Amino acid sequence: MPEESRTDDGKQSLQAAGRATDNCILGRGCGTGREKKMDEIHIKNLEIYAGHGVYEEENRNGQLFVVDMILYTELRKAGMADEMALSTSYGEVSRFANRYLREHTFRLIEAAAEHLARELLLAFPKVERLVLELKKPEAPIGLPFSYVSVKIERGWKTAYLGIGSNMGNKREFLDFGLQEIKNHPEIKDVRCSDIITTAPYGGVEQDDFLNGAVELKTLLPPYELLAFLQETEKKAGRERKVHWGPRTLDLDILFYQDFVSDDARLTVPHPDMANRRFVLEPLMELCPGYRNPVSGKSVREMLGELAGDSDKK
Ligand code: ATP
Ligand code: CA
Ligand code: CA
Repeated sequence: MPEESRTDDGKQSLQAAGRATDNCILGRGCGTGREKKMDEIHIKNLEIYAGHGVYEEENRNGQLFVVDMILYTELRKAGMADEMALSTSYGEVSRFANRYLREHTFRLIEAAAEHLARELLLAFPKVERLVLELKKPEAPIGLPFSYVSVKIERGWKTAYLGIGSNMGNKREFLDFGLQEIKNHPEIKDVRCSDIITTAPYGGVEQDDFLNGAVELKTLLPPYELLAFLQETEKKAGRERKVHWGPRTLDLDILFYQDFVSDDARLTVPHPDMANRRFVLEPLMELCPGYRNPVSGKSVREMLGELAGDSDKK
């Protein structure tokens, strides 16, 4: 596809090229855990007059800010159909950024960029990920310079959770957990597997479990997602007494995009998933081809290997 350039108010430009991008994300569409290439919309040197700064005069008088953005999205359908409704309007994005930066005042350009990126990702759902550079050419430095800037990359990440309960009204606890997840403003596209009943794991005498898996997209980084899940467990009356003991609600992060961590506070992918039928069976329903970024094995392969091992649950 040829590169296309247009102008809108003489300020914004769009380069909607069908080229592969260098920075890729792993998206749900591919379903294999492999990186997904995305198309790009570019907005360059968008000029916005706003009041961000640590000095009171900056807030009062305002100054010029300049924004560069790359929006990662799918352009094939819009390109084939020549239909605006299938794409993201660079004009709308630019006017949104202008309005947001004028109507809010931040002390730091870090904060202005962080909040603007979040609001753009929430307002323009076809944008999976964006790179945003916020430049401040008139920053009060007292030395010659062309501009200072911050540049951030933010986006929707696909995560898979394990969800379980073996105390009280288990079904209600699972529904409560799921509802809390769906209600979170920075989580979308939530899908839950069928719920299965499983004998307890880990040798503690206790009631049977209900288990399932959840797929979602989130703007929360891994540790913030964990904190939110732990808060939700607490709201469901979870008390941590015995490891692998009875619990009203257990929410584990199984996969977070291709993120890998072996920290005890957050081990991702979940280290024991290959041994757990109650994890792999629900995951099989949601993402059979998803590959564990550590072992390289897909959910289907892990479940297949477990099926041949009758000692494991
Ligand atoms: P298991 O993780 O083996 O299923 P569990 O779910 O019973 O065991 P919990 O008592 O719920 O374990 O959690 C113990 C600690 O595990 C938590 O404090 C949390 O910080 C940590 N943890 C490490 N990795 C993860 C993860 N991927 N998801 C959720 N918690 C995790
Ligand atoms: Ca668990
Ligand atoms: Ca847990």
